[in-house]
Amino acid sequence: MQARIITVANQKGGVGKTTTAVSMAAELAGRFRVLLIDLDPQANATSSLGLADPERTHSTYDVLLDEVTLDQIVVPTAIDGLDLAPADRALAGAQIDLVEMSAREHRLERAIRPLLIPNDSEAVPAYDLVFIDTPPSLGLLTLNALCASDHVLVPVQSEYLALEGLGQLVETLELVRSSLNQRLGLIGILLTMVDARTNLSEQVVTEVRRHFPAATFRAAIPRSVRLSEAPSFGRPIKLYDPSSRGARAYGDLANELLARLGMSEANAPSRRGAAEPVTLKPSDSAEAPTLPPGTTVDGSAGATLGGQINSGAPA
Ligand code: ATP
Ligand code: MG
Repeated sequence: MQARIITVANQKGGVGKTTTAVSMAAELAGRFRVLLIDLDPQANATSSLGLADPERTHSTYDVLLDEVTLDQIVVPTAIDGLDLAPADRALAGAQIDLVEMSAREHRLERAIRPLLIPNDSEAVPAYDLVFIDTPPSLGLLTLNALCASDHVLVPVQSEYLALEGLGQLVETLELVRSSLNQRLGLIGILLTMVDARTNLSEQVVTEVRRHFPAATFRAAIPRSVRLSEAPSFGRPIKLYDPSSRGARAYGDLANELLARLGMSEANAPSRRGAAEPVTLKPSDSAEAPTLPPGTTVDGSAGATLGGQINSGAPA
């Protein structure tokens, strides 16, 4: 069992990427060694954990530029088993700084590798699960996250035009898979901010499930005031209000995610016997629904994501 790296991505803003990355990382930290990497210049994941620090001298920006190693910037959080690689505003410059650099899409991947595949064969990987929070764009930061990852989790806000932009996201995922990172698979689509009281929200839920029946998680995240309050207290929902509906929904999602990953506490990489080598294998298709070719995002030809590039359909 290898450590798993999951990017939370959607180029649409405000759909619940950060809330999902933070809530899932905190939820699973009780059972696994978890690292949350903040790759968004807004640094919302960092502040949601109460760890924004204007005095901090290094962030994921410096890691991407090879100035420091990832473990040099990692800080512990208030949650046992959860570490954070913090972001700061400097990261906004990385989009530009990286353009001229070699292997510009693979810099995060290279930085993560030593943490998960230690040089010393006696050592166990530092983490079982890595979550990466990304900005609302498909630029170089998100590409770095996708190149470093085994899986992508796509939150979709259950509002009007929820599916808008998914075509472009699918195209990007296919491009990454075909040219940069073959092991990338879609672990699932997550409905967020579901409001059972409105017809529109219900319609969107039905629509997304109809288009992507296999990919969409059964767990859906309700619109919840407690979830929206938690970041301002610098606490993940698991600490802020563990019995709230939002916290329970993320708990359900965590279990579903583990099932899709085929992961349990017993086979956690950080608890393995030292003899078993840990590798980032190029295939995880047995566990995760991937992006099968030949269908389009409008779902008319099937009900799965993917294939726009392979099938030659327009974006
Ligand atoms: P960005 O694209 O700017 O990074 P994002 O996709 O990361 O945004 P979040 O920051 O997670 O989205 O959420 C956007 C806003 O909605 C935040 O204020 C957050 O607290 C709130 N929010 C997220 N999920 C929920 C929910 N289930 N119920 C109510 N509010 C939510
Ligand atoms: Mg965010």
